[in-house]
Amino acid sequence: MDIKVFKFGGASVCNASGIRNVAGILRKYKDDPIVMVVSAMGKTTNALEEVLKYYINGDPVSLIEAFEKVQKYHWNILEELFSDQDHVVYQTVDSLFNQLRGYIRKGHLYMGHTPDFDFDFEYDQIVSYGELFSSAIVYHYLLEQGLHVVYQDVRDLIKTDRTFRDARVNWEVTTNLIRNAIPAYLANREKTGVSVALTQGFIGSDMHGDTTTLGREGSDFTAAVFAYSLQVKEMTIWKDVPGVMNADPKWRKEAIKLDTLSYREAIELAYYGASVIHPKTIKPLENSGIILRVKSFSDPDGTGTTIENLESWTLDIPVFIRKQDQVLISLSSRDFSFIMEENLSQIFNILATYRVKVNVMQHSAISFSICVDNDPQKIPLLLEHFRKDYKTRYNEGLELITIRHYQPGTAEALINNRKILMEQKSRLTLQLVLV
Ligand code: ASP
Ligand code: MG
Repeated sequence: MDIKVFKFGGASVCNASGIRNVAGILRKYKDDPIVMVVSAMGKTTNALEEVLKYYINGDPVSLIEAFEKVQKYHWNILEELFSDQDHVVYQTVDSLFNQLRGYIRKGHLYMGHTPDFDFDFEYDQIVSYGELFSSAIVYHYLLEQGLHVVYQDVRDLIKTDRTFRDARVNWEVTTNLIRNAIPAYLANREKTGVSVALTQGFIGSDMHGDTTTLGREGSDFTAAVFAYSLQVKEMTIWKDVPGVMNADPKWRKEAIKLDTLSYREAIELAYYGASVIHPKTIKPLENSGIILRVKSFSDPDGTGTTIENLESWTLDIPVFIRKQDQVLISLSSRDFSFIMEENLSQIFNILATYRVKVNVMQHSAISFSICVDNDPQKIPLLLEHFRKDYKTRYNEGLELITIRHYQPGTAEALINNRKILMEQKSRLTLQLVLV
């Protein structure tokens, strides 16, 4: 059985016409058994992070406002897709919203008062609803359209540890669960008629059944977990761009599509922050030689980008990656002594404790600087910790530009007379931290 794995991201299902379009894409593949992974609709994950914010700081008025904003957005889409107000989808989605409302109501009463309150745990319990709403709506719409689809709660298949917000998949358990569930749905297509198994991206659950999440933009990775577990030949990520581009086209209009990429290059690009693919996605695919296609949902017949095992292949044009909202943290010892190996090991221990990933770093005799994403939750705690032992300076609101395969002169136009706070060059990669 030649199963295909499709991932539909938030932009592909951000409104009613997007969801209709997804149904159209699935019809094009009506002869293939498909596992379809969907993300939360549009910017729902961000909107739920707002809900979480007011839930945590105990602001009941803003909390309800933020909640109702999410509800209204989904409700509008529902009304556009299902004219029959008695359709079962209304009950299903309503009961999900009631569950979430119950959770935030109960929780915010004691928030901040309990010593064992765990931000990351609360995050996963609340923010995971985005994928539950979207999968319920898309599932019912596809059924309504006559597609043969089964609904699978991904939390029964993807099992993780309890690293909330960044959960690690237990591959052994997960692979077995997926192999036992999915092929059985899709096997007797003639008899059962089922050709699409629909499930959620981004979320999973731990061994006690508590909901976990795999990290922002983690739905690509979910799809890769399915692709690997089922040992499929190829997986497709449907995006709002024609494929992997050599820059974000919203940033650089002259961006062009890359027709092919090696796994190796794709991992590098994702690692440096090319938001087109989640960095954890490629490795499981590479391990089994599964071809990854990145295609446009608004041009499903376009060629997209094919990512596969290409030995001794190299890109001949530069690729530009921009990360905004960066913080540059500089640490020096209070007595102007050198920053030595013991300090570095301590600094990295602290970074690991707060799970802050270093984007670029630089070392001089008496100082050590790192550039990191400005996570409003983690960074203040990190700085506080650093301040205990080091003179700590930081700059916010910076931009990190990475150029892979840079050529002489490629960077000048991007720098555009801005101040460079840090610069690093290797054979293939140039990185600049700019004001
Ligand atoms: N909805 C989640 C997010 O926006 C996961 C994803 O879209 O991949 O981060
Ligand atoms: Mg998303």
